[in-house]
Amino acid sequence: MYDLKPFLEYVKEVNPGEEKFHQAVKEVFGDIIPYIKDKPEYENAAILERLSEPDRMIRFRVTWQDDDKNIHVNRAWRVQFNNSIGPYKGGLRFHPTVNEDVLKFLGFEQIFKNALTNLPIGGAKGGSDFDPKGKSDDEIFRFCKNLMMELHRYIGDDTDIPAGDIGVGKREISYLFGQYKKLTNRFTGTITGKDIDFGGSLIRTEATGYGLIYFVSNMLEEKNEVLKGKKVLISGSGNVAIYACEKAIELGAKVITLSDSDGMIYDKEGVDEEKLAFVKELKEVRRGRIREYAEEFDCEYREGENPWSVKCDIALPCATENEISDEDAQKLLDNGVKLVAEGANMPCMDKASQLFRKSDIQYAPGKASNAGGVAVSGLEIAQNKIRLQWTAERVDDKLREIMKDIHDQCKNYGTNGEDSIDYVKGANIAGFEKVANAMLAFGPI
Ligand code: GLU
Repeated sequence: MYDLKPFLEYVKEVNPGEEKFHQAVKEVFGDIIPYIKDKPEYENAAILERLSEPDRMIRFRVTWQDDDKNIHVNRAWRVQFNNSIGPYKGGLRFHPTVNEDVLKFLGFEQIFKNALTNLPIGGAKGGSDFDPKGKSDDEIFRFCKNLMMELHRYIGDDTDIPAGDIGVGKREISYLFGQYKKLTNRFTGTITGKDIDFGGSLIRTEATGYGLIYFVSNMLEEKNEVLKGKKVLISGSGNVAIYACEKAIELGAKVITLSDSDGMIYDKEGVDEEKLAFVKELKEVRRGRIREYAEEFDCEYREGENPWSVKCDIALPCATENEISDEDAQKLLDNGVKLVAEGANMPCMDKASQLFRKSDIQYAPGKASNAGGVAVSGLEIAQNKIRLQWTAERVDDKLREIMKDIHDQCKNYGTNGEDSIDYVKGANIAGFEKVANAMLAFGPI
């Protein structure tokens, strides 16, 4: 019978040193192993061994020239993890911390997240250790172009559909898509997150952040609560943070923090529409630092700090993995946080996540609460296939429906006792069921 401890030892042995990947596997299989204890068919088919081994990993060199004509070499990867329920799907991340460990943890998480959307998409992730910070548009263009020279061989609208992630936004997606189109001489929906003028979906930019807030509203509803009047901490100031903030404000919440890798702003008055417009321009156009918000609107800026020591009702980590340590989690709990929902992928360290799960607060894992982005990517694929563009209202309604459905799957599989929902367990089991059953149906391939 599967047993978590020896299974994790096996995972560590075959993937030495990949700590984030081990963390992600532990978090998912910690719930799956008890669930399949009376279902020997999964073990007989070695489903967990197969699920924790990517179908394929492609690694390649990207050579590019900077504006001073110096030549640089970076590594890039595509991890095609599992395509049991649809073509590989997941973002590309450009960040100096990217390596095989990070991409395997992200690709693994993506399998279950994508399954939860109920759309036909498998799990993948990719990216490069290239650092876009401080690079000119020309440099970014040359890097994207040369990356696609290699990547285009492995992707396709029925094979593998990349999108954005940290460091890959509208500009990068446009360069990547333009190059893909040129190399293949085909206009297909092989990349999502495209501009609406050339095959993108309305609401895709907002989708992860909006979806997160729809999910939070569904969670609050379970407690007969609403967002209006709640004090909210948001970390990050990228795409997820910005649109989570926008929707939270629209629903009457008070968002009092935002952050970046240098520090955080604490705005006691709350971020409003005008201030958020400033953040959008700062981060999406000028690519500046969040400290400028504090200078512009005369609020507190804490260099080198994260938001988690501020008293709040709701905390939404929307920056990056492992941004909440166990001390941070304890501080949030001591300060009376009622709900934590992850906008980033695996933002809670293992112990932080365990603390939240043991407490009586509501706690949602990223694979459920941040699935709105990839869900609208799935809708973008559908629109590209039929060569139509749906209205913003239609996409937004579908996003709401999908988030509600993910919430209800978590509830179905994660209800403990009368009224407490373990969202982590629910999301893990609901995602696993679909993918594992497809794998069983295919036989041992
Ligand atoms: N990078 C996003 C995620 O973590 C979106 C992926 C996509 O749209 O394919 O889910």
